[in-house]
Amino acid sequence: MSLVAPDPETRSQANQTLDPQDWKQIRAQGHRMLDDMIDYIADIRDRPVWQPIPPELREQFRAPLPQAPTELAEVYREFSDLVVPYATGNVHPGFMGWVHGGGSAVGMLAEMLAAGLNANLGGRDHMPIEVERQVVDWTRQMFGFPTGASGIFVTGTSMANLMAVLVARRAALGAGVRQQGVGGEGELLRGYTSAAAHGCIGRAMDIAGLGSNALRSVAVDQAHRIDVAALRDAVARDRAAGLKPFLVVASAGTVDIGAIDDLGEVAAFCRDEKLWFHVDGAFGALAILSPDLAPRLAGIEQADSIALDFHKWGQVPYDAGFLLVRDGERHRDAFAQPAAYLRRETRGLAAGQQWPCDLGPDLSRGFRALKTWFTLKTFGTDRLGAVIAQTCALAKYLDACILAEPQLELLAPVNLNIVCFRYRADDADVVNGEIVADLHESGIAAPSTTMLDGRLAIRVAIVNHRTARCDIDAMLAAVLSFGAQRTMVGAEPLAEIEAPPLAP
Ligand SMILES: *Cc1c(COP(=O)(O)O)cnc(C)c1O
Repeated sequence: MSLVAPDPETRSQANQTLDPQDWKQIRAQGHRMLDDMIDYIADIRDRPVWQPIPPELREQFRAPLPQAPTELAEVYREFSDLVVPYATGNVHPGFMGWVHGGGSAVGMLAEMLAAGLNANLGGRDHMPIEVERQVVDWTRQMFGFPTGASGIFVTGTSMANLMAVLVARRAALGAGVRQQGVGGEGELLRGYTSAAAHGCIGRAMDIAGLGSNALRSVAVDQAHRIDVAALRDAVARDRAAGLKPFLVVASAGTVDIGAIDDLGEVAAFCRDEKLWFHVDGAFGALAILSPDLAPRLAGIEQADSIALDFHKWGQVPYDAGFLLVRDGERHRDAFAQPAAYLRRETRGLAAGQQWPCDLGPDLSRGFRALKTWFTLKTFGTDRLGAVIAQTCALAKYLDACILAEPQLELLAPVNLNIVCFRYRADDADVVNGEIVADLHESGIAAPSTTMLDGRLAIRVAIVNHRTARCDIDAMLAAVLSFGAQRTMVGAEPLAEIEAPPLAP
């Protein structure tokens, strides 16, 4: 069976191989890159969170297509000088905008290993697929899903939500929808989500051919959770009008204030009404790893599908979105497709009946599972859960600081790790928008903004495992200082604010 490998004496390189002539040189260059990047992460507090890109540097990325080669060291120098200083900043503990994960050195190293292996996880029989299956099974266990559940890594929750809509659509309309399109019956389908849900759900309905108008926006209660009575009314009204309700998307961590819908109540309603129950748990679902927070997700174990991002609270480097489906059969029904060139064999590399390409639109797929596997194994779920709890404790701390500061006003209850507040001022929307831009440009902190009940809020989402009290203190001090400057008549231009001190 086994043949001998080519004799080293007779081995020759392809004429045009991209391998280096001198492996020693690339090894030294590689070690330097690795050292630099580890230093970057280790010393991240010495840098501004973010800084604006000077126009002349932006111009450097309007270069003509490079036909001739450039030394690797030179390309790396450009990366170091031009890219690194002008990144988003979400590695930095002062980054508090939107919902961005902080990543980790472990995840970075795993990503390098994955690139070296250059595995394609569309299918076939190789161990990287088993790594993904392992993480799928771990995720299944996290959420108490039965065996027979299936899951897949995707770019992010936007994609996972879209795929969930497609699985629910196939379940509602039957196999024919995959050949004939949504047709007349498809036009009758209606989905439901709360007014506080993420915009990608409407977009998913659009891309799925159902139209974003087929998604009903249901009112929320005071705590920004879906109003289940209003949901019940909306479904009843649509049924009475001859429409076909098929899907409810609940939120586990809304993007505005981190509200978690009453998942148990929505689950019961969906069971009674025979509706597909999907949970957008983009960042919030991983709260399941914190024993203190997990009870707030009660009911998530009854979902038909869950979308989540390991790249947010899970701290896995971008991107690592995930879709978990309770009934693996239904998941496959939505995407599997026979193709001669993807024939499954009983032995050899083409063996294995279940291939990930049967579970989503992608055929070629990278090894996102590896950095997630490394993260889960290296830190363990207890420690990841503790990080999640820590970000929520910091949000509570910030909440208390805001309540104690007369110049500041809390704009929403603090549920998880998101705090919405503002500086009190006459023209508060404008002033607070300016304060946030000032914060970004100062490099001290990077919160974002949102509109709550028609009022602009400074929105702080604490996701990064590196964020500590000193970062919250520095952000607040800067908000007060910029706020004072912005509201002072004839104010002088802002004095430099000192960068936050190193973590204790
Ligand atoms: C981030 C987020 C999304 C979108 O996820 P991506 O990974 O950015 O595609 C969807 N829903 C919620 C609640 C989110 O926080």
